[in-house]
Amino acid sequence: MMPVVRLVPKYTDSNGWWETLPQAPSPRVLSGQIRVQTAIIGGGICGVATANRLAELRPSDEFCLIEAERIGNGASGRNAGFMLNLHSHGTPKKLDILRRNIKLWEAGLASLRRKVEEWQIPCDWSNDGRFYGAAGPDGEKHIDEIAETLDQLGHDYTWFDQKAMRERIGTGFYSRGLHAPGNALVNPAALMRGLARNLPRNIDVYENTPVLGFERESGAFRIRTAHGTVLAERIVLAAGAFLRQFGIGVGKFVPMGTYASLTAPLNERALAHLGTGQEFGLLGASAYGATIRLTRDKRLFVRNLFNFVPGAPLGAARVAEIAKLHRKAMAARWPALAEEPFEHSWGGVMAFTLGNGTIFGEYQPGLFAILTHDISPMTRGEAAGGLLAEYMEKLDSDLLSVQLSIPAPQRLPPRPFLDVGVALKSAYLHYVAGREF
Ligand SMILES: Cc1cc2nc3c(=O)[nH]c(=O)nc-3n(C[C@H](O)[C@H](O)[C@H](O)COP(=O)(O)OP(=O)(O)OC[C@H]3O[C@@H](n4cnc5c(N)ncnc54)[C@H](O)[C@@H]3O)c2cc1C
Repeated sequence: MMPVVRLVPKYTDSNGWWETLPQAPSPRVLSGQIRVQTAIIGGGICGVATANRLAELRPSDEFCLIEAERIGNGASGRNAGFMLNLHSHGTPKKLDILRRNIKLWEAGLASLRRKVEEWQIPCDWSNDGRFYGAAGPDGEKHIDEIAETLDQLGHDYTWFDQKAMRERIGTGFYSRGLHAPGNALVNPAALMRGLARNLPRNIDVYENTPVLGFERESGAFRIRTAHGTVLAERIVLAAGAFLRQFGIGVGKFVPMGTYASLTAPLNERALAHLGTGQEFGLLGASAYGATIRLTRDKRLFVRNLFNFVPGAPLGAARVAEIAKLHRKAMAARWPALAEEPFEHSWGGVMAFTLGNGTIFGEYQPGLFAILTHDISPMTRGEAAGGLLAEYMEKLDSDLLSVQLSIPAPQRLPPRPFLDVGVALKSAYLHYVAGREF
């Protein structure tokens, strides 16, 4: 049974990372019929990383990368821009899983760093690390758990007391902070655009070209889009939270929306309320705490809320409602900036699995799929994409063995039990995030 896609990504909100970049060149939309050895569907971090490595490994093959939206305007270009080497909330109980994940996160981060340097991608890459901020008794407990995990892993960090936090980021909202080095901060839309622009020449990139389905035809796949067709010997499905539309991962991951807002560049008066006024990235000590950034061009970024998004991403009107939560979070931290307007508010959908499982491999002859999920998905996706290409070419490496050791995701309960379970867990995590939300 070959898939018919019923839901394709379409955003009506305003992704600040994308909108504040110079205008992108017009997209190349697929029309007519083309033939390639391998078609990659989905131009997020997984799809772009897989395409890049495959094309390197098979320089005389022809590839195409087909993206429903613009590359840089899907989830991989809508996130908070933390390219993480390590991230963990909760008690440090599963260190073996964490150590395994760290290998993948570090490999992904190193690969991104190498590409950004080599290709001179202007994405405001910063190596300044990240803060965790604790507010309230639960936050205090959670930040101690983070420190304990870092201790057990032998990773460096520095404590910031309330006064030091106020001096650095201008607010006494956080009773304690912890600064950990190692990760990068970026403008993710700029990163994705740059990665796509530097793909090897044997990859044709098509954007604004949603794939509507595919079927097998004389040993190949016939991929259908609105105005064109691709005949491909192999397909890589890298459609992120939309993977289920292709019949892969159904009942295996939860599509969760999360939302962000970005101010205009702050003037001197507003910046005076932000401590040193230097760029920073801060994650809540609690899992559902707000993510805050001061960007290189002096905009404040706020992300919070997770909600179950079984259908299309929320439209601009719902996102505008959610932006009120961003304003509340900003006002709680910097009362003097309570009226600072947001220029852009947007949302994106990411995938959460049960039990840290993954989707990676060949699901039918010639049909491969990949999903990056849960924690630090950008660096993990960069690593997994390269590894999927190596797996497809039957190469072997220690890192590939690590990736292959990750189990498939556990099956989720059916709806409506899933809806109830997700709602209860989200409500609990929002509750314990308390003031950090
Ligand atoms: C607000 C927000 C903040 C986040 N913050 C962070 C963070 O700081 N760090 C981090 O690591 N992660 C973060 N994430 C999560 C991270 O962005 C995603 O998990 C990651 O980008 C997923 O990558 P992907 O390649 O699997 O999927 P995607 O980036 O979603 O790529 C899949 C692509 O497939 C395309 N597609 C889907 N269906 C079709 C179709 N039918 N035809 C053609 N193309 C199709 C989509 O348009 C999309 O571009 C955040 C996410 C959000 C929304």
